[in-house]
Amino acid sequence: MKIGEYLKKRREAAGLTIEQLCTNGPGKAAAIAMMSDLEAGLIEATENHIYQLWQIIAFCPDTAMAILKGKDVRICKSCGCSWKDACVDEHGHTCHWVAMDRCSHCDFQEAA
Ligand SMILES: [Zn+2]
Ligand SMILES: [Zn+2]
Repeated sequence: MKIGEYLKKRREAAGLTIEQLCTNGPGKAAAIAMMSDLEAGLIEATENHIYQLWQIIAFCPDTAMAILKGKDVRICKSCGCSWKDACVDEHGHTCHWVAMDRCSHCDFQEAA
């Protein structure tokens, strides 16, 4: 998975739009444009991007850094969760792997 794709999935899993992600202010339009390019892979994500986004979206920075460095990390291809950054349902239960690239949370959601 590419870093842009990962960040997009984590943002969507957090229920945020790019618009909501970018703080209001004079730089908002530029921030939205940058975030769109970042997710589309048009610009290369840096550790600094990850650090900034991590303050807003609850993803695992270790996972993001590993992807950035091109390491093979096990990630759910539907929602982008990983073992350090599992989905938590309304009962407080974390997800588990049902396939190499699929977590129980997504499996349950898509079956429902
Ligand atoms: Zn998942
Ligand atoms: Zn999950």
